[in-house]
Amino acid sequence: DPRKEGIASSIRVVPHVPKGGIMFQDITPLLLDPKVFKDTVDLFIERYTGKDISAVAGTKMCRALRILEEGIEARGFIFGPPIALAIGAKFIPLRKPRKLPGEVISEEYVLEYGRDCLEMHVGAVQQGEHVLVVDDLIATGGTLCAAISLLERAGAKVVECACVIELPELKGRERLKVTPLYVLVESH
Ligand code: 5GP
Repeated sequence: DPRKEGIASSIRVVPHVPKGGIMFQDITPLLLDPKVFKDTVDLFIERYTGKDISAVAGTKMCRALRILEEGIEARGFIFGPPIALAIGAKFIPLRKPRKLPGEVISEEYVLEYGRDCLEMHVGAVQQGEHVLVVDDLIATGGTLCAAISLLERAGAKVVECACVIELPELKGRERLKVTPLYVLVESH
């Protein structure tokens, strides 16, 4: 699909951010181009329309960016909501600890350095509901794995994970095991 070339060329690689050795994949140039931003969302909408998905869950963590803490929180919520609206599904935010005001269910997970945690409101998802998990990027797969186990503990079925970018060298796809992963572009 020629739209994927436009998407790939709108991702800016920033070396050594947020620390030495990391090639940070910056999606903000993609968001500044309304055609490419729309192409990105449309590719997902075309794939998931009419697929019996009643919820889209968005994550937001990050591998090295956790160092930067605040400011990155909402970045993973960029692509999920427009997909959810277009396919007639609800949107479920999966958030860092202590951000959601109601009763939560949490999933702790191990990172390269230390631990992190994802939370979701109790009752956000129904038993047996089919959920699509959306994020901007899969690196080690830790964030998506935590999202899957959180949703499945709450009784949902994660039918697929969808990301704009995959870093294949980090083998995150293997960590997802049985849950299919759909990505638009690979980055090396
Ligand atoms: P993982 O848990 O797969 O190791 O890391 C993926 C998570 O970290 C995603 O939520 C993603 O937003 C964030 N992340 C990690 N590295 C990058 C990067 O280079 N660029 C962007 N845009 N996000 C990243």
